[in-house]
Amino acid sequence: TGRIFSGVQPTGNLHLGNYLGAIRNFVALQHDYECIYCVVDMHAITVWQDPAELKTATREVAAAYLAAGIEPKTSIIFNQSQVSAHAELAWIFNCVARMGWLNRMTQFKEKAGKHRENASVGLFVYPNLMAADILAYKATHVPVGDDQRQHLELCRDIAIKFNFDYKTECFPVTEPLIMGAATRVMSLRDGTSKMSKSDPSDNSRINITDDADTIAKKIRRAKTDPHPLPESVEGLAERPEAHNLMGIYAALSDQTREDVVSAFAGAQFSAFKQQLADLAVEKLAPIAAEMRRLMDAPDHVDAVLADGADRAAALAAPILAEVKDIVGFLRR
Ligand code: ATP
Ligand code: MG
Repeated sequence: TGRIFSGVQPTGNLHLGNYLGAIRNFVALQHDYECIYCVVDMHAITVWQDPAELKTATREVAAAYLAAGIEPKTSIIFNQSQVSAHAELAWIFNCVARMGWLNRMTQFKEKAGKHRENASVGLFVYPNLMAADILAYKATHVPVGDDQRQHLELCRDIAIKFNFDYKTECFPVTEPLIMGAATRVMSLRDGTSKMSKSDPSDNSRINITDDADTIAKKIRRAKTDPHPLPESVEGLAERPEAHNLMGIYAALSDQTREDVVSAFAGAQFSAFKQQLADLAVEKLAPIAAEMRRLMDAPDHVDAVLADGADRAAALAAPILAEVKDIVGFLRR
């Protein structure tokens, strides 16, 4: 047992990677931990977001949480900007984390691209805010996709340095939970880059809300190599596209990669892709339908977010008070 915190950014285009790497695991963990699931809208604005689209995308992530099976009475679902503890603790962590630590973050380098001088300061200090998200609740475990491993490491470094500098045991050293057969789902167009909401090509990803025909078409057109599928997992080694598609199949069907490789040993990609498309539709269509139902009348979603924000704020308040006292902030 312990306390879980995790989040998804409301940046549109929720995809299969978000589902397999994050949301599905959120659902699975909710009865074994006290769970806090956030829609991290403050992270989203580290790159430009249209304000009206940000509101819709925020409701959409909450709708995806609900549609996937997160129970809002058991778990807390809320959007980050409604609980000011995140921003307050992030400032303190801006003063704990070192420039050198943040300079090593590969996600910043990727997202900032060639024009680093033009990236927002928020994009650079984003991992400090993420550490604040987690530690404002003293969360012990964080389920994430493999791409967030380095940011979780930074969160641990911040907790350790804070505890050391202030001679306290205030913060736990949080463990990542990177679970399942598809912890890093790759782009359908390029087996070496991560499937992402922010990829400009819609054909690079399967969106949770894609209809059956679109899913089948995207999988049919997904990049592959010209060889039949391997007879053993070792045969996946230099074949990133086969590795990716078979990992997706394994995760969606709750099997191991070994099981899937032996079921399709020597098969042609075309036959495998047909079955993969059917499986993806079977798993995603009910979630998409429920998301659409929730988005048609978003009052329920808004009520869930408001109730969640109250509960989250109540958990964070005493922790933030403790931190301010430790730091030496005079309070009434
Ligand atoms: P963006 O491109 O805007 O950063 P994203 O697709 O990376 O979007 P996030 O909101 O940053 O999505 O991440 C939400 C969660 O989904 C995180 O736990 C992250 O690790 C996980 N995740 C994101 N992409 C993948 C992927 N391709 N495979 C597995 N997990 C993923
Ligand atoms: Mg991301």
